[in-house]
Amino acid sequence: MIALAWIAVMSVQAQDFDRYFENKTLRINYLHTGDAQSEKFTLKEYHAGGVWSGTRAFLMEPNRYGDILIEVFDSISGVPVFSRSYDCLFNEYRATEEAKTITRDFQECINIPFPKQTIKYTITCFNRLGVGTVLFAGYFNPKSTPTVPFSDDYTTVTLHQGGAPEKCLDILFVPDGYSKADAELLDKDLKDFTSYVLDCSPYKENKNRFNIHAVKCYSQESGITDPNKGIRRNTAIGCSYNTINTDRYLMCENVWLLYDVSDDTPFDVIVILCNSKKYGGGGIFNFYATVCNGAPEANFVVVHEMGHLIGGLADEYDANGSGEDYFPAGVEPKEPNVTTLVDFGSKWKFMMDPKTPIPTPETPEYNGKLGVYEGAGYVGEGVYRPWLDCSMKDIIYDNFCPVCTKVLIEIFDYYSNRESK
Ligand SMILES: [Zn+2]
Repeated sequence: MIALAWIAVMSVQAQDFDRYFENKTLRINYLHTGDAQSEKFTLKEYHAGGVWSGTRAFLMEPNRYGDILIEVFDSISGVPVFSRSYDCLFNEYRATEEAKTITRDFQECINIPFPKQTIKYTITCFNRLGVGTVLFAGYFNPKSTPTVPFSDDYTTVTLHQGGAPEKCLDILFVPDGYSKADAELLDKDLKDFTSYVLDCSPYKENKNRFNIHAVKCYSQESGITDPNKGIRRNTAIGCSYNTINTDRYLMCENVWLLYDVSDDTPFDVIVILCNSKKYGGGGIFNFYATVCNGAPEANFVVVHEMGHLIGGLADEYDANGSGEDYFPAGVEPKEPNVTTLVDFGSKWKFMMDPKTPIPTPETPEYNGKLGVYEGAGYVGEGVYRPWLDCSMKDIIYDNFCPVCTKVLIEIFDYYSNRESK
């Protein structure tokens, strides 16, 4: 009965795409402003163009892995017609010492299919307890609201073609810190990083379900800004180490510019390739990921950060103990690959051998077995992971655990409009 009901919902949604949307993208740019105590959103402008490369069957996102939720409603009937969630840098800033006293602006945006009629949209923020608050509501009238057209400034290249954009996850590489003199290096890096994705499970078994493109944008100067070393570089999208005062956190705060550069070709997720030897990177669900070309484990780093970006996966390691507030006791995390055992039935319990104990001891007997191992999400106690040495935990390439693998395959299903098994 449940399967039948689900198919019915799917078919209604597939028809709804043509009823409510055009094959075009609308991007809403806004500022996310605040400090540790308060936050607000301020609308900046709308951009429109291209095609709609996202899902058509699952217009309402099946799992809310992000803490920021955009919901779109038909303004006349009030019917919800689209939703998508993401995580953001602002929420990481809020946890810092600086945020206790200093208010900061963070650029954010969301791509949605271009509506045929006036829509109402809301932005809801969820805290770590899972409580959501609607912080913004706006209207967009496709006939009268002004939009900035998508740009067409750069050459784009196809690195891997799995299928049509509306039936695939579209991954876009955006380079930063490559000058014109680095053109050969950029070509080599684009090729290498494409093979790092293609040679890793579950990507390698699903090659016809994703595409990889790149925007060939060059920077004025070679290298990446590193404030702690006094290095400043004039680069295409201005990536920098020491984001929110963490030395190896290499991120892009010019999010509107990043999306402007990216809109020359259809994309669902952005991976920024930085020309730098210093280890660094990051990945935020449905926001963007960064990697650098000089890291010795660059093949591992790119698929690990894409785990955050695409699957909303949590880090399965327990290092540095900074996560005490991140996974509060008594709350089941939204991240699909960690559990506090508050509602383990909603996680990977059904995939386990019923004879495996919960929690599972880290003994040789359980090596290579799906279990519930204590230590994950930056803490040693109270948060559990499914596998001893998944690629979301240890620096091991092509080693995603069965739970992370399943989540990534569900994301391929979402973008290729297929029902997950
Ligand atoms: Zn895993």
